Order: sequence, then structure tokens, then C-alpha cells
Amino acid sequence: MIVGLGLVIALAIGLYKEDSRYFTVNSLFTLFHELGHASISEFDLPVLGREEDAADQLATLLLRSVETHPDFTAGELTLLAAKGWLDDWKKFGASASDRAYGDEHSLEIQRYDQMACLTYGSDPGAFPSLPAEIGLPEDRANSCVFEYAQVSESWERLLAPHYRLEGSIGGGRIGVVYEDTAIEAAKALRDKLVETKAFDTLADAISDQFVLPRDLTMEFTDCGTANAFWAESAATVTMCYELLVYFSDEP
Ligand SMILES: [Zn+2]
Repeated sequence: MIVGLGLVIALAIGLYKEDSRYFTVNSLFTLFHELGHASISEFDLPVLGREEDAADQLATLLLRSVETHPDFTAGELTLLAAKGWLDDWKKFGASASDRAYGDEHSLEIQRYDQMACLTYGSDPGAFPSLPAEIGLPEDRANSCVFEYAQVSESWERLLAPHYRLEGSIGGGRIGVVYEDTAIEAAKALRDKLVETKAFDTLADAISDQFVLPRDLTMEFTDCGTANAFWAESAATVTMCYELLVYFSDEP
């Protein structure tokens, strides 16, 4: 699956212009993270460790799977999405209260390090200077190779029983809904999403690749907060326009 979606992801990214790549990659990472939650609940997958970390791992693997593209490499994309967490850490991490340590999510700086570690571990020869650049100790950098293999094999094994076999029919599909937005800064972004159909393309690719137990919805809407959610009861992944606006302003 991971290789199969790589071309579609490259296509989705290619639909955007160079200057909005940060927006695109971080939006995609967030969507893949929420789809990670969705796959865990829809396929009733076991989770060892924190689900939030597992969802980050799947999102990283998906970005890392993008096939060769003339304008970028998969590693560059993954590191650009990781940078989103580094930026958040610089903005909010220093002022985080001790409560942040009890959050269900890892700290932003840990999410950044983990993505960078997996990216390095996926192909150490392609990123020889990465551990030094981000300050990963040598021991940790060496373990990233093992971690990448472990994480990718684990996800592959859990998802494989849900792949659609050649010629099989049935199963749910992911429908995409673009609600209107009252947020001035989101209006052009919404128009762009509707026009490029990048997320529709992705939703179709995922629906074609997996036998989903039921129909799911990928919804873009105003939330009152810059976030994204998976809601099992509504079978819906919600992407908030507030978050897209946030991503459109690269620090
Ligand atoms: Zn999550």
C-alpha cells in the first residue's frame, strides 16, 4: 500500500505551486495522521504504545513513500512536514506547562525528532548529515535504521489483510466534503482544494486500495480551532480550515 499511494501523493503535491509546498505537505501529514486513527478504529488494529505516536508513524511512512518526482525527493517532503513540528515547538514549546508532559501526544520536538529519525533510518546514505544537523546522538541515529524497518513492517503487516484484491468489489468509500467557510483567509484555500481535487484524488486512491468496512467522510470545515479530528461515531475525518490557514503561513 505504501508504495501504491506514493504516486498519488506525488500527484497531489504536484498540483500545488512551489510556494505552497509547506502548506501542502503539512496538510497531507495531518490528514494521514487522522487516517492513521481511522484505520486503527475501522480495521480494529492492535496498538502497542501510544496511538498518537502510531498515527505519526503511518503519516511519516506515507510521505516517505512518495515516488521520485522531478521537483523534490520524498525525504525533503518528510523533513518539511517534520519542520512543522519544529516550528510549533519554537513557538509554543518554551511556554508549555508541565501538563504538556501528560498529553496524549508526544511533545512537538519529539514528534519532529521521531519523523527525522524515521526519515534518516529509511535511507541513511541519502541523509548522511541529518543526525548532526538535528543533534541526534550517534547511538540514536544508528537505532533509527532498525526503527524504520520495524515501523514499516508493522504497519505493512497490519494493513495487508485489508488490501483490496484484484477485481474485488464492495467495501466503503471515502467521500470528500468542502463546507463553505466564514474565514476570510480560508476562502482562497478552499477554492484551491476544490479546483485541484488533490484530496479527492487521494480519497479515491485509498478507497480503491482498501476494503473499508463502511463509507467514510473527509470533511473540510470551520471548527473554531486550528486542528483536525477523527470521529469514529460520525465516521468522519475533519480538517479544520483554521489549521489550513495556519499551515499557509510558513514561519
Ligand atoms: Zn492524533
